Amino acid sequence: MRPPKVYSIDEHRIPGYKLDKQAYYVIEKLRQNGFIAFLVGGGVRDLLLNVRPKDFDISTSAKPLDIKKLFKRNCILIGRRFRLAHIRFGRKIIEVSTFRAGESEAKLILRDNIFGSPEEDALRRDFTINGLFYDVGVQTVIDYVGGFVDLEKKVLKTIGDAKVRFIQDPVRMIRLVKFKARFDFEIDENTFLAMKENKKEILKSSATRILEEFFKMLESGSAKNFFYLLCKYELLNLLSPVLATFLKENENAYSLIEIVDIFIKKNHPKALDRSILLSSLVFYILETKLKKNYVDNNKLLHLGIINVEAKKIIDEAFRPFFHISRKLKAQMVTILSNQFKILPLIKPKKRSIRIPRDPFFELALIFFNLRCSQNPNLNNIYTQWNEKFILSHKLKKKYFKRKNAKI
Ligand code: ATP
Ligand code: MG
Repeated sequence: MRPPKVYSIDEHRIPGYKLDKQAYYVIEKLRQNGFIAFLVGGGVRDLLLNVRPKDFDISTSAKPLDIKKLFKRNCILIGRRFRLAHIRFGRKIIEVSTFRAGESEAKLILRDNIFGSPEEDALRRDFTINGLFYDVGVQTVIDYVGGFVDLEKKVLKTIGDAKVRFIQDPVRMIRLVKFKARFDFEIDENTFLAMKENKKEILKSSATRILEEFFKMLESGSAKNFFYLLCKYELLNLLSPVLATFLKENENAYSLIEIVDIFIKKNHPKALDRSILLSSLVFYILETKLKKNYVDNNKLLHLGIINVEAKKIIDEAFRPFFHISRKLKAQMVTILSNQFKILPLIKPKKRSIRIPRDPFFELALIFFNLRCSQNPNLNNIYTQWNEKFILSHKLKKKYFKRKNAKI
């Protein structure tokens, strides 16, 4: 056991007021009851970088049942492999987990529900910049892994042997790309080599977790950079060859992702539905295919065909690795195919606006509105459809009211 480096407030300069009130409350309550409790992980990293943390995680010496006893109904224990406590404050959740020992062999993680010391808990984490503790009580940053210096040097480095850590849990490679995209730090040489040499391991990892990281990035405002780097480091071609090839070969392939980034930064990480986020990755693939196979060949193109092609594109882009739920897929098909209803590829003789009865149609309109910021000529069309949509909504409400009145 090596003693950790401890940084005082003069060195770390985390202003007390930046700390989340509820996280502070949870830590204090645990401490008052005799437990050790630190802020940990991404929350500490972001405070040190002076960016707003997305979530605050707490590590503690208290066992799950101790935590439950303290926070009673506000606390639910989740997870089967390793039990975590979720403490609820309205819609906000603070995640509290008992100090955990990590895995030491170069295997995929199968079992990791062993409690451990604070040091073990730091060592099991992925990158040095994510392995720091913040002791709220005395306002010190506790560093077992060299993360403080790496943050100052702007370096991304795995904790422990990079090759071993990536093989244990290949999702860490995606997380590496995520932090690179978000912070633009240098990647430590060994870490980079290990990713390069072990990239194929990614296919053994959990598709759900990778998709979750994709969503996190699409909700971060740095998605363009993220997907660009995933392509560059040749990870995306393993997960989605269709998407990787398209992004590599088409100049404007990123333009919708860029618009999503701008929109999210202006508004809120959750400002766009997930179906819209995923559609922004594949819309141009569909448009290109329809133009090439149908329009350029003077082949008949109607909405039925577009629907089928939209489904095909979603499957080709995501099926090889990911699982897209039925609802998400249905929403995406609505979004993608209705783009060509709102703005047909072949100019119709007469333009008529008829709002489909599809419950997800509003998503398609929002998506079209996003496309307008790339091509302001479309604004007019959007306004017409939107007005009609609002009108049809009002009519529907009126109709239901009358129906209710009869009953
Ligand atoms: P974000 O800002 O996107 O939430 P994060 O680093 O906070 O990034 P989380 O998924 O919230 O990521 O995880 C919280 C912490 O848990 C991380 O900072 C890291 O210490 C640890 N962690 C997460 N994923 C892994 C992993 N695959 N292997 C080891 N430690 C991990
Ligand atoms: Mg986090």
